Amino acid sequence: MIRYENATVSYSGHRALADVTAEFGTGITTCLVGASGSGKSTLLRLVNRLVEPTSGRVLLHGEDVARRDPVALRRGIGYSVQGGGLLPHLTVADNVGIVPRLLGWTREAREEAVSRTLALVRLDPARYARRHPSELSGGERQRASIARALAADPEVVLLDEPLGALDAHLRETLQEELRELFRRLRKTVLFVTHDMRVAVRAGERIAVLDGGRLLQHGTPREIVEAPAHDAVLALLGRRRDELARAVEESS
Ligand code: ADP
Repeated sequence: MIRYENATVSYSGHRALADVTAEFGTGITTCLVGASGSGKSTLLRLVNRLVEPTSGRVLLHGEDVARRDPVALRRGIGYSVQGGGLLPHLTVADNVGIVPRLLGWTREAREEAVSRTLALVRLDPARYARRHPSELSGGERQRASIARALAADPEVVLLDEPLGALDAHLRETLQEELRELFRRLRKTVLFVTHDMRVAVRAGERIAVLDGGRLLQHGTPREIVEAPAHDAVLALLGRRRDELARAVEESS
């Protein structure tokens, strides 16, 4: 579904992403894991053309995204970033309904989409639809942002550190919920996190990045049990036993 072919992104000679070839399957949630600056966001943003490859290409459903109109492309792909990125002057309902509105859906269809997706992320529409982002907690803002990413029912959803700003307890609750939600909806999800604990719980696959290179791509079990590189081992760190238990619990 999402295929990278020798994708490289350079900024004045610095390689943010170096010759990545990989395929991320339909209906699967893949966590992109790596330290800060390893190229995770760059890999993610190639899909919706917020970043263009210096060389190589990115295929979505077999078609080079470079051939697609970027605006139309982005309307067909859900996107949620750390902190939510909600527009502060719009209500939750208007934020969540933004893509359906741009797509020209009727008012009725928009309202249905807003209520349905808010319920999916467990925000009661009756309580939350009319609020503004400033009247939400950090966790609620993140939920609303994920509802916005899902509102037009895209096949592909990109999440950039969606849980990064949340406290540990909330992060654990949400990562389990998201995993179940995306599995149930059969979305193709790329989910950026620097935290291997989040990745083994939220991802059906994990892709590990280091210095712009894709080091390993496999199931959480494969990554934890058979790290293919020292840098993967370093990311697993001293918590490897705990991560192995998390893999057992999630499978
Ligand atoms: P991550 O998401 O893993 O933290 P990024 O993909 O954001 O990493 O960045 C990878 C590398 O590319 C970093 O060294 C970063 O500083 C660099 N980089 C990212 N975007 C730009 C940009 N627009 N201009 C220059 N360098 C960039």
